[in-house]
Amino acid sequence: MNRRDFSKLVLTSGVALLAPGAALRAAEAAPEPQQSPAEKFDLLIEGGTVIDPGQNLNGAMDVAVHQGKILEVSKNIAKDRAAKIVSAKDRIVTPGFIDLHAHCYDGLGIGMNADRSCLSRGVTTMVDAGSAGYVAFPNFKKYIINTSNTRIAALVHINAIGTMMFDGGMANLSWVDPKLTAKMAMDNRPITVGIKIQLSKAITGPNDMEGLRRAIEAGKIAGLPVMVHIDEPYSPLPDILNLLRKGDVFTHCYNNHTHGILDANGKIIPEAKEARARGVIFDPAQGQTHLSFDVAEKCLQQDFLPDTISTDLTAVTVERRVFDLPTMVGKFLALGIPLEKAIGMVTANAARVFDYGAQIGSLRPDNEADISIFELRDGKFDFEDSDGVKRTGRQALVNKAVVRHGQVIVNAV
Ligand SMILES: [Zn+2]
Repeated sequence: MNRRDFSKLVLTSGVALLAPGAALRAAEAAPEPQQSPAEKFDLLIEGGTVIDPGQNLNGAMDVAVHQGKILEVSKNIAKDRAAKIVSAKDRIVTPGFIDLHAHCYDGLGIGMNADRSCLSRGVTTMVDAGSAGYVAFPNFKKYIINTSNTRIAALVHINAIGTMMFDGGMANLSWVDPKLTAKMAMDNRPITVGIKIQLSKAITGPNDMEGLRRAIEAGKIAGLPVMVHIDEPYSPLPDILNLLRKGDVFTHCYNNHTHGILDANGKIIPEAKEARARGVIFDPAQGQTHLSFDVAEKCLQQDFLPDTISTDLTAVTVERRVFDLPTMVGKFLALGIPLEKAIGMVTANAARVFDYGAQIGSLRPDNEADISIFELRDGKFDFEDSDGVKRTGRQALVNKAVVRHGQVIVNAV
């Protein structure tokens, strides 16, 4: 199938008819001729408000796309040059959102379907947070990553199997092999962007520090960061944070369980501030049990904002309280983070955390043409944290259209 045929599959809603990822990848290999100012280009997104924090853009602008890349973002681009036009009138146009933490081993354990729950909601890139370890990864890559239209980056779990094993695999440390984990990560770059470990009393038990040392060893061998799920760990949080390096990620940072980010007086522990100062990333993925609005608010009051916003989306959380990344952004708007800053957390900031092997997270010329179009709805919206505690927001982002590598995948503007 050529690119033109593929674009005929453009959908007006849903993603049921999506062509397999191979079609997109074939398009990615297309040659890129030089474009002169008068020449035609593939797609114009016109009349929207572009919010692209990676370039400090926020205003009425058009976006021109050609050969899967951003050609130009500016006011009043000539319509007659465009082969196809999508109106973004009364809409917000952003770089495709990046979800830093989700689980998409669809059909296995708690995996959800990335095209259905990420791409069709404006999330053009998602990071699978350790659904597979080194034993399971080749199957995951072959049947899920390579057949999805969502750009899927993956963290290789430090245990052999990955998150399909609810005990985290740490009970038997012979299944926790830094060298084999690192080799799988290195052999599958740039799809693989890091290493994952889960530290919680229920999952890792007393082996958490040894597991973390092995995960960091794997990260060092592979030259990649480690994402550390920390929620109610066996060991105290300062011991864990002190091992994290610049670029490693503390995910679930606003949980309200034992060994959390706040001390008994509600103050952020000094080790968390020190970790941030040396470049550790703080991410508030909600999941089933990991986000407390109360903890998040106390952190925001102390000017300890998250670096990114993510979901921990699974087949469970897609139905309950989390739903999708735009909903998570709505929660942080309700907590008081300004819109442009929140969008930056799921675009430019998330793009900086990992090396995806592609220029994403901003609408700079020559970057990947991964673009989302949202309606910013005003009203009263109830959002829930992991305990069902509610906050009411006055704005919600509703995805209306998605462009992935220059192809209009969903269009309901
Ligand atoms: Zn997770």
